[in-house]
Amino acid sequence: MTAVSNSYPTEALRAADAAHHIHPFSDTKSLNEEGSRIITRADGVWLTDSDGNRILDGMAGLWCVQVGHGRQAIADAVHAQMSELSYYNTFFKTTHPPAVALAERLAKLAPPHLNRVFFCSSGSEANDTVFRMVRHYWDQMGKPDKKVIISRWNGYHGSTLAGTSLGGMKAMHTQGDLPVPGVHHINQPYWFGEGYEMSPEEFGVMAARDLERAIDEIGEDKVAAFIAEPIQGAGGVIIPPETYWPEVKRILDERDILFVADEVICGFGRLGEWFGSQYYGLEPDLMAIAKGLTSGYLPMGGVLVSDKVSVGLIDKGGDFNHGYTYSGHPACAAAALANLDIIENEHLVERVKNDIGPYLQERWIGLGDHPLVGQARMKGLMGALEIVPDKKNPHKPFKDVGVPGLLCRDVSFEHGMVMRAVRDSMIISPPLVLSHEEADHLVATARKTLDDTHQILK
Ligand code: PLP
Repeated sequence: MTAVSNSYPTEALRAADAAHHIHPFSDTKSLNEEGSRIITRADGVWLTDSDGNRILDGMAGLWCVQVGHGRQAIADAVHAQMSELSYYNTFFKTTHPPAVALAERLAKLAPPHLNRVFFCSSGSEANDTVFRMVRHYWDQMGKPDKKVIISRWNGYHGSTLAGTSLGGMKAMHTQGDLPVPGVHHINQPYWFGEGYEMSPEEFGVMAARDLERAIDEIGEDKVAAFIAEPIQGAGGVIIPPETYWPEVKRILDERDILFVADEVICGFGRLGEWFGSQYYGLEPDLMAIAKGLTSGYLPMGGVLVSDKVSVGLIDKGGDFNHGYTYSGHPACAAAALANLDIIENEHLVERVKNDIGPYLQERWIGLGDHPLVGQARMKGLMGALEIVPDKKNPHKPFKDVGVPGLLCRDVSFEHGMVMRAVRDSMIISPPLVLSHEEADHLVATARKTLDDTHQILK
């Protein structure tokens, strides 16, 4: 068998892409004029494009390729599963071994109070499922007025109607007249951008109390849940001040609302624990998972359900009229199991906590001395560099917010590394298998990129 990429010349691929392919989160018209970059192969932390360039994948795809690219064991597991049972569904009282094995495995991996999982194919579907689950739960618990879900501005929870609505991305809300009713957004704990006039500790408490204010204003009897990422990823790797989560926890402990952790990015080792909730000592009632579950080899997501929610959802719930053709897909479940084997056997979670995490953090944070950088931050293997016009006045943004970030992203690509730009924050989230040598290369490339971007901006 030949991979598709080997049978098309680059220019033919570019022309066909421009003629027929609408890209996600892209201005397809200008992209077509420019021509897309075509990635044809990948192994470890390295991508190869159709011109033969090697590019360090500083974003692990889209924050998902925990075990690195090109792992034969996952391909073999999927092949074996497809040869035996390529597809069957999990509706109507049926199941199959890979879905069962994965559900059991996730219950063992997750914190002890999360013992069940609902499968789907993506993080967005996981959050759509959350949306319906929390409302159904409260109906079954005899509190049907509890319908509002609180989330945060600049949080990201996916791109479906519920995911976009729960998310706090205004540019997404303006397309499609969102959010849907019943979602209330509160402020994010973004100290560098929004809280720098206070100490991080004071600001963390204040941002957390926005949740308390919102619950009190709306009425606890009307609030179903609060959903949040432990660290906001797509919002710009917003690492909350140390005081934020303890204060949120206090507020949640005193109130009868569900807490949903969106672990789509933070899960599966990204922060040096299996889940970001464990990193921050949180006890979510529901956890949305995807991405690192299969390291992106096949699409799969899920919602981990606590024993508390199981009472409403399962013991009292009757039919849950919700599901996807591919819920628990056998090949995807096989990919997830093989991926979890690699994460466990290679001790990748511990590696992030004790080895490559601290190693890269020290060097990444060292980039904070660069004249273009206002702040360098990193937890686990998620980092950001805030690039700013005036280092002496670092919280003042560029006049043309976002344009320097895109320039820096393009320079990084030219230097052979993927960094993502969120406004003017440069983001990395590399595979958990990144070696020390590759980490050095990543930091050196980032510095070269900053130097060149700085020169161009002068
Ligand atoms: N939740 C978070 C925290 C995410 O970062 C993402 C995707 O980036 C999603 C949900 C949506 O996941 P998907 O793109 O698989 O639908």
